[in-house]
Amino acid sequence: MCWLSGTLYSRYAQSLWGGLMLRSFSSLLACLLIFLFSPLFASAQRSFTVGTASASPGEKATGYLEVPAGIDSATNIPVVVINGAKSGPVLALVTGAHGTEYVSIIAVEKLVGELDPAKISGTVILIPLVNIASFEQKVPHVNPIDNKSMNRFYPGRADGTQTERASLIITNQVVDRCDYLIDYHGGDLDESLRPYAYWGPTGKDAQDRISKEMVLAFGLDHIIIWRDRPTDPIATRYLDNTASVRGKPSIVVEAGYAGTVEADDVALLVNGTLSTMRALKMLPGEPHPVENPVWLEKIVDVSSDVEGIFYPLVKRGTYVEAGMKLGYVTDFFGKTISEPRAPNAGVILHLDAVPSLKKGDNIADIGVVSPKAP
Ligand SMILES: [Zn+2]
Repeated sequence: MCWLSGTLYSRYAQSLWGGLMLRSFSSLLACLLIFLFSPLFASAQRSFTVGTASASPGEKATGYLEVPAGIDSATNIPVVVINGAKSGPVLALVTGAHGTEYVSIIAVEKLVGELDPAKISGTVILIPLVNIASFEQKVPHVNPIDNKSMNRFYPGRADGTQTERASLIITNQVVDRCDYLIDYHGGDLDESLRPYAYWGPTGKDAQDRISKEMVLAFGLDHIIIWRDRPTDPIATRYLDNTASVRGKPSIVVEAGYAGTVEADDVALLVNGTLSTMRALKMLPGEPHPVENPVWLEKIVDVSSDVEGIFYPLVKRGTYVEAGMKLGYVTDFFGKTISEPRAPNAGVILHLDAVPSLKKGDNIADIGVVSPKAP
């Protein structure tokens, strides 16, 4: 226990003695109340604990969110708490829900090393890898333990499968403890992605103003306006939406593609985070917000109507017209059997990065440019 509790304890002991001998019952009661509540008060001032990681001001601590076994196996999700030397808000940085979106994971790993608690006002909770089984087994999109996406089952449930139990612990230990949240993603093993961010307005002006400031400060130049999301707190689905619905400004950022870890992509996510922390006054210095972002009003999915071999004719980031051919699909004898086309004009946010294609697989996501900024 810290010095504060010790001091209070000795004051209590003196008061007890004095009270028995000389003083009124009311002063004894007051001292007793201070003593009873002092551990709570002291811990709020002195240290910040998430899972098994506990850091005093000016310290960085590591530990785990322990997800107990249920109808399937247990898992331990790594957590880092960086408790700034100065007081301020709590920012959560969560990545690796999809454990093979490597740039998003490596960027947060880099932040774990680079963020200096001596310079931070407030506290940063970092979850550098939510989906360990996906990462270890190189399985894209889902947690191989239960075959569920780890960004679709929030706020989670205690009696569910591993993904749902992990989601509940992240909701309780991270979302409920933070003031702001950033969720990191990117192109998965089979996705060729150009960097972009999501901004999900809630209709609450003060909250939306802050989340918009965060997404602009982050600096990615294409921003999807993500409307029409679940508003029921017990069925929020996505992590950032779980935070938004609970009143915490939050954004999603995406960079990297198809198993690569390119320095430029990592730098986008690292520098974007530092700029956002400056905008939130958690780091000294000025943010560098993107000045002329392309706002996207919706995403249009193009999926394959056949199985076969995919040959792309566009690249990530290509601007396409409605009706433009995105590529072609052949059977295993080389005969063209499908020519998927863009249903809308827009920008290729991500494109199938591999030749393997089965019916229903995603070929491309096209971002439709908003005629005006929000
Ligand atoms: Zn993802």
